Amino acid sequence: MEKALQQDLQTRREASLYRSRKTLDTAQGPEVVIKGKKYLAFCNNDYLGLANHPEVIASLKKATADYGVGGGASHLVVGHSRAHHQLEEALAEFTGRDRVLLFSNGYMANLGVISALLNKRDAVFQDRLNHASLLDAGQLSGARFQRYLHNDVENLATRLERTEARRRLIVTDGVFSMDGDVAPLPELVQLAKQQNAWLMVDDAHGFGCLGKMGGGVAEFFDLPQDDLPVLVGTLGKAFGTAGAFVAGSEALIETLIQFARTYIYTTSMPPAVAAATQTSLKLLREESWRRDHLQALIQCFRKGCAQLGLQLMDSASPIQPIMVGSASNAMALSDALAQQGILVTAIRPPTVPRGTSRLRITFSAAHSKEHVEQLLTALERTVSPLQEDVA
Ligand SMILES: *Cc1c(COP(=O)(O)O)cnc(C)c1O
Repeated sequence: MEKALQQDLQTRREASLYRSRKTLDTAQGPEVVIKGKKYLAFCNNDYLGLANHPEVIASLKKATADYGVGGGASHLVVGHSRAHHQLEEALAEFTGRDRVLLFSNGYMANLGVISALLNKRDAVFQDRLNHASLLDAGQLSGARFQRYLHNDVENLATRLERTEARRRLIVTDGVFSMDGDVAPLPELVQLAKQQNAWLMVDDAHGFGCLGKMGGGVAEFFDLPQDDLPVLVGTLGKAFGTAGAFVAGSEALIETLIQFARTYIYTTSMPPAVAAATQTSLKLLREESWRRDHLQALIQCFRKGCAQLGLQLMDSASPIQPIMVGSASNAMALSDALAQQGILVTAIRPPTVPRGTSRLRITFSAAHSKEHVEQLLTALERTVSPLQEDVA
């Protein structure tokens, strides 16, 4: 076994695809400490800076005194607390859906939903750049599985027309996690209706960032439950806590309670996390200045990059990737930036397709304009010369 594993590890190293973890000694925030060295970081998904917010922390502490730490059992046994229930109701009201169901995390929500809705008599159609959890869920469900070209509604339409299946489910990221662009939802809604297909959106990166109240793509495009019947959100990103939720009709939520195995066969999230999330939901919704500030940072960054002649991808979200192509280039750039005290992650296959390795820069409302200036200065020194070499 050792020899076989070492061989595979070596292959991965040689392809510049080896991954290793950085150990943080601080909370998430613009500045983190790793091995005693301070870095200015642009890589977390804490888009509104709520992961370390004093009110959220205070709610967690208070709820721990009331509920203890562990959930203690699965939701269907005796692990469903008042704190979980209240958060579900608050999220249902926030999303304008009949009901919401909490999951332990987004990965499990996606596995649970798709396998509860589909089986081998059905077909699932996924954008080829969907998050890994959606792609894995499609495979696990046993449904016939097709990936359509990224945001290409015509390509999807052709595939839908050619498929005879009991149920046909279209699945897309709302804001794409590694590209930062947005799915063409009004067109997808129309197509789904024409074709009598079902639509599911995973808006892990849209909630908190898009829409006046942070309601994500559903609010941004004004898509009610009838148009967008299966809406998934995660709590570990802009909400700054942990977990995930599915929002939809009474029948959808009851179906998940009965049949979603990743809901049924796991311990509920710690109730205090649910209580803390109620506080972060209030901040996310009411304090829209965080979204405004975040947008200002994004504009400032994009303008600065244009002045440096740096090519960015077509994104208005806090995810601002710089495409560099090869995995080894991406690693070299990420290392060079780290030497200047700037932390930006290199994203490589299989997370993204071959030849599209990138620096995935993310912004948070906790960043300042000065932070963005420092990033631009480091990029000018590091990335600009390389992009010229490539050209
Ligand atoms: C992060 C992410 C998930 C997984 O959510 P977790 O709660 O971290 O498991 C699912 N879908 C998308 C699009 C994501 O970006």
